[in-house]
Formats: sequence, structure tokens, C-alpha cells
Amino acid sequence: MGMFQTLFRTKLQDLISYGKKIGIPVKVLQSTYLKNYSVEFTFGDDDPSVDTAKNVVTLPAQIIAKLASAKLDGIVKEARAVGLLYHEAVHAFVGNKLNSGDIAFAVLHKQAKAYYSTGKFIDGKTIPEEGLDSAVTEAMAQYVHRRIFSWWFAHELLTQFAYEMMGVPNPNHSATLKLTGRDLSDFNLVKTILSQKNFGNSYHSTVKGEQKNMQIATPMHQGLRDYCDREILEGKINDVAARFVTDSPIGGN
Ligand SMILES: [Zn+2]
Repeated sequence: MGMFQTLFRTKLQDLISYGKKIGIPVKVLQSTYLKNYSVEFTFGDDDPSVDTAKNVVTLPAQIIAKLASAKLDGIVKEARAVGLLYHEAVHAFVGNKLNSGDIAFAVLHKQAKAYYSTGKFIDGKTIPEEGLDSAVTEAMAQYVHRRIFSWWFAHELLTQFAYEMMGVPNPNHSATLKLTGRDLSDFNLVKTILSQKNFGNSYHSTVKGEQKNMQIATPMHQGLRDYCDREILEGKINDVAARFVTDSPIGGN
């Protein structure tokens, strides 16, 4: 194992122990990054990727530094990195389920593909046949990603909000941190994300015959969503947990 792999593993193990303490799901991180897949790193602006044939996940190297400080300390700075880590783990998870011949998942996957075959992109066009696999996987990855991201982001802001309500400075921060109007509008964004019903994107053929990625407008397949809630999110970030955030006193409507 290279230096970055070793460092990543150590930081990930810290995040997993911490995640267990704060009550976020960690099994998908363990199975992907510590068991089924090897991890490689990019050092430029390349997008993260998952090779489900070779069992390799490629992540941006900067994620290691973000994971090293991933704590709910009232300072919003790692929510995106944590969300990304789960997003790629879901791609790996789906690849693993399909490659290992998990019957229950194969049936669900087929049903979801049939569902998305009549699904629409945000421009009203139908999802093409060759885009259906991607529609299913991206819906799962984006759903899990946004649930985790929103949970993390909201808890950072709520932590800070609690310090301010008690009138004590946040000991995790060197200066006297105060939530700003920007933070509050970000919090509203999180509330919006948590009430979102459509997830994922897929290949969209354009008039010129090119392909591009476009967001899907059709609500997520219910069985797929239930599966993500149960098997990946371990029942920990469900709608009840989301309501805790959407009903919270900060932000506004
Ligand atoms: Zn993706």
C-alpha cells in the first residue's frame, strides 16, 4: 500500500469510529473502502470515478485532509467531502451487488430500470435505453450523497447555533464565530434538498447526437429509495431524522 492509501485508511477508520458515535451509517464505507475496493488518488481536477470491473475507486487526494478534520464542531467545511465519499461508495456498492449476483438486488434493479424507461429529464425528454443503468445508479448515489451531506451540514450549523443561543464562544474556533446571513440561506438550501423527490442524472442525447448529463425530473423509484434507506443508510437518516432539520428554528421559509 502506498503512502496515500495508508493515510486514507487511517483517516477513514477515524471517521468510521466517529460516525458510529454520532449515529451516521458506516457499513457502506467499511465494505467499499476497507474490504471490496482498492483506492487510488488523483491530484488534479479530475472527477472521482469507480471502476466496478476492476474494483477500484479513484478519489481526489485532497479528500484525505478533509477527512482528517471531519468533526461536528460547528465549522462547516467537510460536508461536501463526506458526501462525496458516500456517493462513490454507493457506485461501488451497486457494482458489487450486480457482480456478485445478489438476486434480490437484481430484481429491484430491473424494476427500477423499467420505471425509469418512462421517466423524464428536467427538459421533458424521455431517458434513453442506454441511460437506464446510469439513471438507477446515479439516483441511488445522489440520494445517499444528499442525505449524508444535508445531515452533516445541518448538524454543523445547529452546533454553532447552540453555542450562540447559550451565549458562549465555540471553543473549536479561534475567533468569535457568528452565523451569517449566508449560513442561514445555506441552511434553507439544506432544507430544500431534504424535501427533494427526484434524484440522479443520466445520459441525454442532444439534437446534434452528442451525449450530456442531465438531471432526472421523475421522482425516485420508491423501492429503490426504501432500499437505500434500509441497506445503505441503515435506517439512520430517514424522513423522521430529516424532519428534525426541516423543522429546526434556524433558516426560514
Ligand atoms: Zn455518481
